[in-house]
Amino acid sequence: MLLDTLPSWYRLSWNASQNALQIHIAEAYIAALPPIPDNSPLRIFAEKKVSGDLFASYSLDLTAKQFGFNGSVRRLDATDPKTGFVSFSVALPRVHTSTGMACQECGGTGESDDHRCFHCNGFKLEMKYDWYGAYSITESLQLLFWLLDIRLEAEMHTEVPQLFTLHLCAERSMHGSSMGGHLGKDALKMLRCVIASGKERCVNVERRITEALTQSWQHMMAKCDYDNHNLRVEIREDANLFITCPGDAAGVYTVNENWRASYDKGCDISCHNMDNPTQALACLAGLAVFSEELEKEWLLWNE
Ligand SMILES: [Zn+2]
Repeated sequence: MLLDTLPSWYRLSWNASQNALQIHIAEAYIAALPPIPDNSPLRIFAEKKVSGDLFASYSLDLTAKQFGFNGSVRRLDATDPKTGFVSFSVALPRVHTSTGMACQECGGTGESDDHRCFHCNGFKLEMKYDWYGAYSITESLQLLFWLLDIRLEAEMHTEVPQLFTLHLCAERSMHGSSMGGHLGKDALKMLRCVIASGKERCVNVERRITEALTQSWQHMMAKCDYDNHNLRVEIREDANLFITCPGDAAGVYTVNENWRASYDKGCDISCHNMDNPTQALACLAGLAVFSEELEKEWLLWNE
């Protein structure tokens, strides 16, 4: 994909009204996936998580109603007859939520000594973190991206190229939510077209990605103004995308170092200090909108 055009076998999109990440997978790809044997490392890995009581259930079957741990990836009913893609939906969880009780520190006013209450951050309620749902999603997506990374001989119905491929970590540790992948040569070409079409279009794409990044973050982590300046998107003139999310200079970016030399090669997607699953999921929402915009650009040039 870095050097060749491959017809798309999966795409991402962002469903803002449901705070859901959507993954669309070619039915032909699903049909060509071999059954996963009992002794495969993938199944042993998933089995271990469930028998260790980390999760209640798992499925590795993309033809079933649910995929991944605890049914985190839900298969939607209809296959798009035009493209032959099946859609899957991943509803993002609430991670930082209130217990429903007033904050003890500020007595539910959100302020103490004329400042925002340090204990509840001005939320006025006692807040708690619940990472369980977020990990069940990133661990499911880790499995899904593995399955989508198998080179299968399958005839695809679409002419839209695969724009990028991704992989995702789901470890409960520092850098444990690292992600990366490859941006295909066609995607990079479309990114250059976006940049060439002028400042206004670029700003518009940045704005759309920022909206998805911000909305997904606020859905998971509760709305907090001081996070906002760390939810940033930048498309640089050297054809690189930078998505920044709250954390220690955390974010996802493309590594296109070769912009003058080569117009016919893709590049890597990398990340920095991705320590928790909400960072990864917010960046995925951003990447989903990025791919929607690149696909729009591709259709503009090819239809
Ligand atoms: Zn408080």
